[in-house]
Amino acid sequence: MDFRDTPEEAAFRSRLRTWLDENLPEGWGRPGNDEPRGPERLAFLKDWSRRLYEAGYIGITWPKRYGGYEAPLSHQAIFLEELGKAEAPEHVGVIGLGMAGPTILAHGTEEQKDRFLRPMLAGEEVWCQGFSEPGAGSDLASLQTKAVPDGDGFRVSGQKVWSSFAHIADSCILLARTDGSGSKHEGLTYFLMDMHATGVEVRPIRQITGDAEFNEIFMDDVRIPGDMVVGQVGQGWAVAITTLMNERANIGFMLSSRMGLAFRRLADLAAATGRPGGGTMADDPLTRDRLARIWAEVQALRFTIYRSFSAFLKTGMPGPEGSIAKLAWSDLNQRLTKTALDIEGAFAVLGAGSDRSIADGRWQTLQLRSRGNSIEGGTSEILRSIVAERVLGLPRSR
Ligand SMILES: Cc1cc2nc3c(=O)[nH]c(=O)nc-3n(C[C@H](O)[C@H](O)[C@H](O)COP(=O)(O)OP(=O)(O)OC[C@H]3O[C@@H](n4cnc5c(N)ncnc54)[C@H](O)[C@@H]3O)c2cc1C
Repeated sequence: MDFRDTPEEAAFRSRLRTWLDENLPEGWGRPGNDEPRGPERLAFLKDWSRRLYEAGYIGITWPKRYGGYEAPLSHQAIFLEELGKAEAPEHVGVIGLGMAGPTILAHGTEEQKDRFLRPMLAGEEVWCQGFSEPGAGSDLASLQTKAVPDGDGFRVSGQKVWSSFAHIADSCILLARTDGSGSKHEGLTYFLMDMHATGVEVRPIRQITGDAEFNEIFMDDVRIPGDMVVGQVGQGWAVAITTLMNERANIGFMLSSRMGLAFRRLADLAAATGRPGGGTMADDPLTRDRLARIWAEVQALRFTIYRSFSAFLKTGMPGPEGSIAKLAWSDLNQRLTKTALDIEGAFAVLGAGSDRSIADGRWQTLQLRSRGNSIEGGTSEILRSIVAERVLGLPRSR
């Protein structure tokens, strides 16, 4: 793969940088940002999402017919890279753009594409993913949420858990069992569920960081019309695989540029933190060794992401290689943020809100949030099995 931009890609990158310079919301583009909290947060993110979309940076590769811009995939990679570098807010539709949208594009009906894709791109409608259940995470196919036929539709009852953004979502990609008679991968159906329907209850779960960004969803006899099934009834597993492949593929480019930035902040922290006995932590040989290793791994992650992107360019479909980047990133992010706390020394115990904390406890929050990285989007154990079996071609573990 040639890592240099073509003249056309360079022009796109330069236009985007100028746009970001001129449009980045007040207080962004630096560590710790001014994202509003509470009810204003959603309005802020929706407004930012709409502006990104109207400027031509969302739905870059999607068909024009459904509101996209039909530009090359390389532009999408450039967009994610530059958004990360600029420390800009993300689009509100992380699940919609990365998972629901690609799945509807691949398996949905024309009516579903016309109804859902444009509002998803413009940030008008937010999506969540209702896959995991208390008894079904890694072993997703053992899920128990039931959908029973009801006239021309279905009635759904059950419980989902860890559903990111469900508290602000308008729609949900939902996997439910329509037939329990076959093997666990059979009899699953993929639905588009209205989160405002009668019988849907969302209960936020508070995380170790103190934020509540994911939720339980309880469904009590929720009616879903028959035209909200994606693919065939009972064939939902194949549709769900499209969602999961896209989830890991999308993590790539933004993460790579965000990791590059995180490394620079880490090096700045070392240079600004006094070392017991004189100098700064950047003079400490052990810290220097850790920083050098992390820098090398950030570069390795970058090239791994390019490699899986290159495979994506050839096949048009995300492949199992995306699992390598997700696995490497979660481990690296946990070590990088832990290194920051070690550099802070005794100050590491002071979190946000303390007047003696470093960077208002930003590294503490990042380290706590990073613990979930090796669970979300497939646990590290499961990803290691995928890499072993589907990338390296080793024998199946079970
Ligand atoms: C921040 C965050 C956001 C999330 N967002 C969503 C969301 O929006 N929607 C959604 O549906 N879900 C979401 N999840 C849930 C996530 O997909 C699951 O937590 C994940 O799939 C693991 O499932 P589990 O928690 O049930 O753990 P389990 O599957 O019970 O795993 C427990 C442990 O056993 C290990 N294990 C299990 N099976 C195997 C095996 N075959 N081989 C080796 N080890 C194994 C796992 O690696 C893990 O260490 C989110 C999770 C997090 C942390």
